[in-house]
Amino acid sequence: MSFSEAFRDPALLNSRVLQRFAALLQPKTGAELETMAHEAEALTRQFFGRTMRLFAPLYLSNECVNICKYCGFSRDNPILRVTLSVDQVEAEARHLWEQGFRNVLLVAGEHPKFVSTDYLAQCVARLREFIPAISLEVGPMETIDYLPAVQAGAEGLVVYQETYNRAAYAELHTAGPKKDFDWRLDCPERAYAAGFRRLGLGALFGLAPWEEEALHLAAHVDHLLRHCWKSSVTVSLPRLRPAAGSFEPTHDFNDRALVQVILALRLCFPQVGIVLSTRETPALRDRLVRLGITMMSAGSHTEPGGYTGAGEESIHQTQRGKAVAVIASEGEHLTATEQFAIADERSPAEVSARLRELGLEPVWKDWDAALAPV
Ligand code: SF4
Repeated sequence: MSFSEAFRDPALLNSRVLQRFAALLQPKTGAELETMAHEAEALTRQFFGRTMRLFAPLYLSNECVNICKYCGFSRDNPILRVTLSVDQVEAEARHLWEQGFRNVLLVAGEHPKFVSTDYLAQCVARLREFIPAISLEVGPMETIDYLPAVQAGAEGLVVYQETYNRAAYAELHTAGPKKDFDWRLDCPERAYAAGFRRLGLGALFGLAPWEEEALHLAAHVDHLLRHCWKSSVTVSLPRLRPAAGSFEPTHDFNDRALVQVILALRLCFPQVGIVLSTRETPALRDRLVRLGITMMSAGSHTEPGGYTGAGEESIHQTQRGKAVAVIASEGEHLTATEQFAIADERSPAEVSARLRELGLEPVWKDWDAALAPV
C-alpha cells in the first residue's frame, strides 16, 4: 500500500508508535520536557555517537513552473532567475569542497525545460568526481526519470510535503504540477524504487497546526521505515523564513514546539536522522544540536551562483516560460534572487569550531563508494 493510500485510511494514526508520538506532543511542563531531552540525547549518542554530519545546499536553478504562495521562487514572482551550466555547478561545488564539504544537496525549482533529467544526471556525474555524497531536492519525478541521476551517483532524494493538511495544500499550491497532493506524497517511494539510499522528508511548519503536521510527518516516517527499509530516512522541520512574495505564516510554531517535535521524533524513531538548516539562528542551533539533530547545513546560500557569483552574466526574468533580459542600472550588480533568507550566517569553519566546543564531532564526509556492497 502506498502512503497516499495509507493516508486516506482512518486507522493511519492508530499504531502504537504513533499513539506514543501523539502523547509526546501533548502540552508538557518544563520538567517533563527536560526528561524527554535527557532521554533523546542519550538515544542520539547511542545511535549516532557524537557525530554531526555537515552538508551544503547548492542551488542549480531558481526557475519554477509552480505557484507556491510561501516561496520566493514561485512562478509569478518577478525575481531574478538563472540556471547554472554544468561548468558553473562544478565551480560552485569546488568552492564548497575547498571549504571542507564532501556532502552536497543539489536544489532546484521545478522546471523541466531548464532542469531536465539529463541535466541533473550531468551535474551529478561531474560532481561525483570529487564529491562522494550527493543528494537531490528537485521537483518530484517518475521512478524512471530518477534513474539517470541514481546511475550517475546520486545517493539521496529530499522532498518535503510542505503541509500534510490537504485543504491548506490546495489553498497554497494554485498552479503547476505541484497541485497534486498525492503525487507528492508518494514521491519518496518512487525515489526508493529508483535506488536512492537516503530519503529525506519534511514539512514546512507554519502552514497548518504544528501538532497535526508533526503527527502526519511521523506517520510518513513510520510508513517509509516499514516499506523502504533498504534506505535510511531523514527528517527536516523547516520553519518559514522571509522570502520574495512576503508570505506570512498562518500558524505559530515556536521554539518550544520545535524542540518538542525534535524530542518526540528522536524518542519514537531513534534510528532516523534529523536535519537542521541555517533557517534557524546560531543561538537556537547551538542548543538544538545536543537534542537529537544529526545533520546540519552551514554557510548556506539559497540562490544559484550564491557561493562564487557563477551565472551572473545570464540573469534574467522569466515570463510565460521565456527568458526576458534585465538591464542593470549603472553601478548595479545583479545576482539571482534567493529562495529565502537564512538566519545563521556563520561560516562552515565557525560552525565546525562551535560544534567541537559543544563536544560534538563535525563529519564532512559520511559516504564513499568503497563502502557500497559489491
Ligand atoms: S517551493 Fe519549490 S515548487 Fe514551489 S515555487 Fe518554490 S521552488 Fe517552486
